[in-house]
Amino acid sequence: MVEQLRLLVRLQAVDKVLFDLQTEHDAIPGRLAELGLEEERLAAILGKAQAELDEVAARRKEMETENENIRTRLRRAENRLMGSKSQKEYRAANAEIDEGKDALKSNDDVLMELMERQEALEAQKNKAETEFNEFQSGANEERAKLEARSQKLGKEIQRLTKDRAGLCDGIDRELMEQYDFIRPRRQGVALAGVSQGICLVCRMQIPPQQFNELQRQDKLMACPSCRRIIYWADSESFEGVL
Ligand SMILES: [Zn+2]
Repeated sequence: MVEQLRLLVRLQAVDKVLFDLQTEHDAIPGRLAELGLEEERLAAILGKAQAELDEVAARRKEMETENENIRTRLRRAENRLMGSKSQKEYRAANAEIDEGKDALKSNDDVLMELMERQEALEAQKNKAETEFNEFQSGANEERAKLEARSQKLGKEIQRLTKDRAGLCDGIDRELMEQYDFIRPRRQGVALAGVSQGICLVCRMQIPPQQFNELQRQDKLMACPSCRRIIYWADSESFEGVL
Protein backbone atom coordinates (compact mmCIF):
# COMPACT_ATOMS: atom_id res chain seq x y z
CA MET A 1 0.00 0.00 0.00
CA VAL A 2 2.78 2.42 0.94
CA GLU A 3 4.59 1.80 -2.33
CA GLN A 4 1.37 2.49 -4.24
CA LEU A 5 0.81 5.70 -2.29
CA ARG A 6 4.39 6.78 -2.95
CA LEU A 7 3.76 6.42 -6.67
CA LEU A 8 0.51 8.31 -6.28
CA VAL A 9 2.32 11.18 -4.51
CA ARG A 10 4.71 11.43 -7.43
CA LEU A 11 1.87 11.16 -9.92
CA GLN A 12 -0.05 13.90 -8.12
CA ALA A 13 2.98 16.20 -8.27
CA VAL A 14 3.22 15.68 -12.03
CA ASP A 15 -0.55 16.08 -12.44
CA LYS A 16 -0.60 19.31 -10.47
CA VAL A 17 1.96 20.83 -12.82
CA LEU A 18 0.18 19.34 -15.83
CA PHE A 19 -3.14 20.75 -14.66
CA ASP A 20 -1.71 24.26 -14.33
CA LEU A 21 0.09 24.07 -17.68
CA GLN A 22 -3.01 22.70 -19.38
CA THR A 23 -5.20 25.43 -17.87
CA GLU A 24 -2.81 28.10 -19.12
CA HIS A 25 -2.58 26.38 -22.51
CA ASP A 26 -6.37 26.13 -22.85
CA ALA A 27 -6.87 29.82 -22.04
CA ILE A 28 -4.72 30.98 -24.96
CA PRO A 29 -7.25 30.53 -27.81
CA GLY A 30 -9.82 32.52 -25.82
CA ARG A 31 -7.39 35.38 -25.32
CA LEU A 32 -6.48 35.31 -29.02
CA ALA A 33 -10.16 35.49 -29.92
CA GLU A 34 -10.62 38.41 -27.52
CA LEU A 35 -7.78 40.29 -29.20
CA GLY A 36 -9.32 39.60 -32.62
CA LEU A 37 -12.75 40.85 -31.54
CA GLU A 38 -11.38 44.06 -30.06
CA GLU A 39 -9.34 44.62 -33.20
CA GLU A 40 -12.45 44.16 -35.33
CA ARG A 41 -14.42 46.55 -33.13
CA LEU A 42 -11.78 49.29 -33.47
CA ALA A 43 -11.46 48.64 -37.21
CA ALA A 44 -15.23 49.09 -37.58
CA ILE A 45 -15.10 52.43 -35.73
CA LEU A 46 -12.25 53.55 -37.97
CA GLY A 47 -14.08 52.36 -41.10
CA LYS A 48 -17.22 54.27 -40.13
CA ALA A 49 -15.26 57.47 -39.44
CA GLN A 50 -13.44 57.11 -42.75
CA ALA A 51 -16.71 56.56 -44.66
CA GLU A 52 -18.31 59.64 -43.10
CA LEU A 53 -15.26 61.69 -43.90
CA ASP A 54 -15.20 60.45 -47.50
CA GLU A 55 -18.87 61.32 -47.91
CA VAL A 56 -18.42 64.89 -46.64
CA ALA A 57 -15.27 65.36 -48.73
CA ALA A 58 -17.17 64.18 -51.81
CA ARG A 59 -20.03 66.59 -51.15
CA ARG A 60 -17.58 69.41 -50.67
CA LYS A 61 -15.85 68.58 -53.95
CA GLU A 62 -19.20 68.41 -55.73
CA MET A 63 -20.16 71.81 -54.35
CA GLU A 64 -16.81 73.33 -55.33
CA THR A 65 -17.26 72.04 -58.86
CA GLU A 66 -20.75 73.51 -58.93
CA ASN A 67 -19.39 76.87 -57.76
CA GLU A 68 -16.77 76.70 -60.50
CA ASN A 69 -19.56 76.23 -63.05
CA ILE A 70 -21.54 79.12 -61.59
CA ARG A 71 -18.48 81.38 -61.77
CA THR A 72 -17.92 80.42 -65.41
CA ARG A 73 -21.56 81.26 -66.19
CA LEU A 74 -21.18 84.54 -64.27
CA ARG A 75 -18.14 85.52 -66.34
CA ARG A 76 -20.04 84.77 -69.54
CA ALA A 77 -23.06 86.78 -68.34
CA GLU A 78 -20.77 89.67 -67.43
CA ASN A 79 -19.28 89.56 -70.94
CA ARG A 80 -22.77 89.53 -72.42
CA LEU A 81 -23.73 92.44 -70.18
CA MET A 82 -20.77 94.48 -71.48
CA GLY A 83 -21.59 93.69 -75.06
CA SER A 84 -25.36 93.88 -74.76
CA LYS A 85 -27.01 95.59 -77.68
CA SER A 86 -30.52 95.80 -76.31
CA GLN A 87 -32.35 96.43 -73.07
CA LYS A 88 -33.67 92.87 -73.28
CA GLU A 89 -30.19 91.37 -73.53
CA TYR A 90 -28.96 93.67 -70.76
CA ARG A 91 -31.76 92.69 -68.39
CA ALA A 92 -31.37 89.00 -69.13
CA ALA A 93 -27.63 89.14 -68.45
CA ASN A 94 -28.19 91.16 -65.29
CA ALA A 95 -30.79 88.73 -64.03
CA GLU A 96 -28.43 85.83 -64.66
CA ILE A 97 -25.66 87.62 -62.76
CA ASP A 98 -27.95 88.25 -59.77
CA GLU A 99 -29.12 84.67 -59.81
CA GLY A 100 -25.54 83.38 -60.02
CA LYS A 101 -24.38 85.57 -57.16
CA ASP A 102 -27.28 84.41 -54.97
CA ALA A 103 -26.49 80.79 -55.74
CA LEU A 104 -22.82 81.33 -54.93
CA LYS A 105 -23.68 82.96 -51.63
CA SER A 106 -25.96 80.19 -50.46
CA ASN A 107 -23.49 77.54 -51.67
CA ASP A 108 -20.70 79.25 -49.76
CA ASP A 109 -22.70 78.96 -46.53
CA VAL A 110 -23.18 75.24 -47.12
CA LEU A 111 -19.54 74.91 -48.13
CA MET A 112 -18.42 76.53 -44.91
CA GLU A 113 -20.51 74.06 -42.92
CA LEU A 114 -19.08 71.17 -44.90
CA MET A 115 -15.54 72.36 -44.26
CA GLU A 116 -16.15 72.57 -40.54
CA ARG A 117 -17.74 69.14 -40.57
CA GLN A 118 -14.86 67.74 -42.58
CA GLU A 119 -12.36 69.12 -40.11
CA ALA A 120 -14.19 67.55 -37.16
CA LEU A 121 -14.47 64.23 -38.96
CA GLU A 122 -10.81 64.33 -39.88
CA ALA A 123 -9.91 64.68 -36.20
CA GLN A 124 -12.32 61.88 -35.33
CA LYS A 125 -10.83 59.61 -37.98
CA ASN A 126 -7.27 60.38 -36.89
CA LYS A 127 -8.16 59.52 -33.32
CA ALA A 128 -9.76 56.23 -34.38
CA GLU A 129 -6.77 55.46 -36.56
CA THR A 130 -4.27 56.07 -33.75
CA GLU A 131 -6.34 53.96 -31.39
CA PHE A 132 -6.57 51.13 -33.90
CA ASN A 133 -2.86 51.22 -34.79
CA GLU A 134 -1.77 51.30 -31.17
CA PHE A 135 -4.07 48.43 -30.28
CA GLN A 136 -2.99 46.41 -33.27
CA SER A 137 0.71 46.73 -32.60
CA GLY A 138 0.16 45.74 -28.95
CA ALA A 139 -2.08 42.87 -30.03
CA ASN A 140 0.47 41.60 -32.55
CA GLU A 141 3.13 41.63 -29.88
CA GLU A 142 0.86 39.76 -27.48
CA ARG A 143 -0.13 37.25 -30.18
CA ALA A 144 3.51 36.45 -30.89
CA LYS A 145 4.15 35.94 -27.17
CA LEU A 146 1.04 33.79 -26.76
CA GLU A 147 1.94 31.62 -29.72
CA ALA A 148 5.48 31.09 -28.44
CA ARG A 149 4.09 30.33 -24.99
CA SER A 150 1.54 27.93 -26.42
CA GLN A 151 4.26 25.98 -28.22
CA LYS A 152 6.43 25.85 -25.14
CA LEU A 153 3.49 24.69 -23.02
CA GLY A 154 2.58 22.07 -25.60
CA LYS A 155 6.07 20.57 -25.47
CA GLU A 156 6.16 20.65 -21.68
CA ILE A 157 2.74 18.99 -21.51
CA GLN A 158 3.89 16.29 -23.90
CA ARG A 159 7.00 15.61 -21.82
CA LEU A 160 5.07 15.42 -18.54
CA THR A 161 2.38 13.24 -20.10
CA LYS A 162 5.09 10.71 -20.91
CA ASP A 163 6.40 10.87 -17.33
CA ARG A 164 2.87 10.38 -16.11
CA ALA A 165 2.33 7.29 -18.23
CA GLY A 166 5.51 5.78 -16.76
CA LEU A 167 4.23 6.33 -13.21
CA CYS A 168 0.74 5.04 -14.02
CA ASP A 169 2.21 1.73 -15.19
CA GLY A 170 3.17 0.92 -11.61
CA ILE A 171 -0.18 1.80 -10.03
CA ASP A 172 -3.02 -0.72 -9.51
CA ARG A 173 -5.82 -0.28 -11.97
CA GLU A 174 -8.53 0.15 -9.34
CA LEU A 175 -6.55 2.78 -7.43
CA MET A 176 -5.79 4.53 -10.69
CA GLU A 177 -9.48 4.61 -11.59
CA GLN A 178 -10.37 6.08 -8.22
CA TYR A 179 -7.64 8.68 -8.51
CA ASP A 180 -8.70 9.64 -12.03
CA PHE A 181 -12.33 9.88 -10.94
CA ILE A 182 -11.62 12.30 -8.09
CA ARG A 183 -9.05 14.49 -9.85
CA PRO A 184 -11.23 16.44 -12.32
CA ARG A 185 -13.84 16.92 -9.57
CA ARG A 186 -11.32 18.40 -7.12
CA GLN A 187 -9.46 21.09 -9.11
CA GLY A 188 -6.92 18.56 -10.40
CA VAL A 189 -5.90 17.35 -6.92
CA ALA A 190 -7.06 13.84 -5.97
CA LEU A 191 -4.51 13.12 -3.27
CA ALA A 192 -3.96 14.91 0.03
CA GLY A 193 -1.27 14.48 2.63
CA VAL A 194 -2.36 14.53 6.27
CA SER A 195 -0.05 16.10 8.80
CA GLN A 196 -0.77 16.25 12.54
CA GLY A 197 -4.32 15.16 11.88
CA ILE A 198 -5.02 17.95 9.34
CA CYS A 199 -5.80 17.37 5.65
CA LEU A 200 -3.18 19.50 3.90
CA VAL A 201 -5.45 20.34 0.98
CA CYS A 202 -8.80 21.23 2.57
CA ARG A 203 -7.25 22.08 5.99
CA MET A 204 -9.92 20.14 7.88
CA GLN A 205 -9.24 17.96 10.92
CA ILE A 206 -9.37 14.18 10.44
CA PRO A 207 -11.19 12.50 13.37
CA PRO A 208 -8.57 10.98 15.76
CA GLN A 209 -9.82 7.42 15.24
CA GLN A 210 -9.40 7.73 11.47
CA PHE A 211 -6.05 9.42 11.85
CA ASN A 212 -4.87 6.46 13.93
CA GLU A 213 -6.02 4.09 11.21
CA LEU A 214 -4.26 6.22 8.58
CA GLN A 215 -0.98 5.96 10.47
CA ARG A 216 -1.12 2.15 10.15
CA GLN A 217 -0.80 2.70 6.39
CA ASP A 218 -2.43 -0.57 5.49
CA LYS A 219 -5.53 0.52 3.61
CA LEU A 220 -6.80 3.19 1.30
CA MET A 221 -8.58 6.07 3.05
CA ALA A 222 -10.34 9.28 2.03
CA CYS A 223 -10.53 12.68 3.72
CA PRO A 224 -14.00 12.87 5.33
CA SER A 225 -14.31 16.53 4.28
CA CYS A 226 -12.94 16.79 0.73
CA ARG A 227 -13.12 13.06 -0.19
CA ARG A 228 -9.59 13.06 -1.57
CA ILE A 229 -7.39 10.00 -1.13
CA ILE A 230 -5.23 10.66 1.93
CA TYR A 231 -1.82 9.49 3.14
CA TRP A 232 0.10 10.15 6.31
CA ALA A 233 2.51 12.86 5.15
CA ASP A 234 4.65 12.81 8.37
CA SER A 235 5.54 9.16 7.86
CA GLU A 236 9.13 8.48 6.92
CA SER A 237 7.75 6.31 4.13
CA PHE A 238 7.24 9.50 2.13
CA GLU A 239 10.56 11.14 2.84
CA GLY A 240 12.34 12.07 -0.37
CA VAL A 241 9.54 10.73 -2.51
CA LEU A 242 9.55 13.84 -4.68
ZN1 LIG B 1 -9.39 17.08 2.81
